[in-house]
Amino acid sequence: ARPHRHLVYPSGTASRRHKHNPAIRIMQWNILAQALGEGKDGFIRCPMDALNWQERKYLIMEEILTYRPDILCLQEVDHYYDTFQPVLASLGYHGSFLAKPWSPCLDVERNNGPDGCALFYRRSRFSLQATAYLRLSAMMLPTNQVAIVQTLICRETGQRLCVAVTHLKARSGWERMRSAQGADLLRSLRGITSQRSSGQTEAAPGAVPLVVCGDFNAEPSEDVYRRFSSSALGLNSAYKLLSADGQTEPAYTTWKIRPSGESCSTLDYIWYTQGALSVDCLLDIPTEEQIGPDRLPSYHYPSDHLSLLCDISFRDEPHRLM
Ligand code: NDP
Ligand code: CA
Repeated sequence: ARPHRHLVYPSGTASRRHKHNPAIRIMQWNILAQALGEGKDGFIRCPMDALNWQERKYLIMEEILTYRPDILCLQEVDHYYDTFQPVLASLGYHGSFLAKPWSPCLDVERNNGPDGCALFYRRSRFSLQATAYLRLSAMMLPTNQVAIVQTLICRETGQRLCVAVTHLKARSGWERMRSAQGADLLRSLRGITSQRSSGQTEAAPGAVPLVVCGDFNAEPSEDVYRRFSSSALGLNSAYKLLSADGQTEPAYTTWKIRPSGESCSTLDYIWYTQGALSVDCLLDIPTEEQIGPDRLPSYHYPSDHLSLLCDISFRDEPHRLM
């Protein structure tokens, strides 16, 4: 069975939910591309049987459907058209997908196409205002990493919400590339969130509240993390609110064993506009015991990255950034 995880209501974040302003549930998850898991990753303590797509796909869907997010941000999706798009569409979601230009999945024999980022939202809660498909640049040069940015309109309240999903360059030695990709994404987000809606006459920078989900492939000590936490967009990282002091990221969001050794690190984040949105609750991080001695992925959990999940609501009186 998948580890049982609890929703945690951080102290000091009094629930601001109303009948007319229900929380928005957001899930961020690098689901592990099927081709990479079987053909490239080298998870030496994970039995090959546990990576069989015909069974693993149910564990992934079970994780998503257990929590029924309103917004779902996925990385390493290499079964969008044959699995996630049709299944989630039948459950009331609208989906968008952007493949990496040179997905490493394509190097794997009998691959299922390139992996990429996918963004789903629940159609009953949101309508779509605009979508931007971005190929991230670094030092003016196009890279192999992408992002999807969508401006949604909350059907119940008419409020706009901008949501982004990304997967930055992996591996150590590429810290400056990640930082430059993050800077490029922030630049795009500044432009997108300052766009006026039809009724407004003036554009305000950061006017639209923003949620950015991603596998940043960066520990909190990295430059790209500092860029996001100190940007003019006023972003905070939701999972810090799980910690006792509200200032510390979880100890890990991914934990795996490769031939090179064990790797336990915090790489995945949900950023949100702190002045306009508040976090009501978060799904806790499984303990070392729940993860198990062979770490991830496993028969019990289908990816080497943990899903992140939180409920976010609009603040009654936004603390304006202008
Ligand atoms: P990244 O370095 O960003 O990593 C790609 C994937 O590899 C990620 O999903 C990452 O997972 C995973 N990964 C991270 N660390 C390891 C590891 N130690 N062992 C195995 N897998 C790991 O890749 P790029 O997007 O920059 O693409 C690089 C690859 O793309 C090349 O290796 C090549 O295969 C291919 N390529 C092909 C080109 C062509 O002309 N055909 C051109 C350019 C690239 P996570 O994010 O979870 O850490
Ligand atoms: Ca991976």
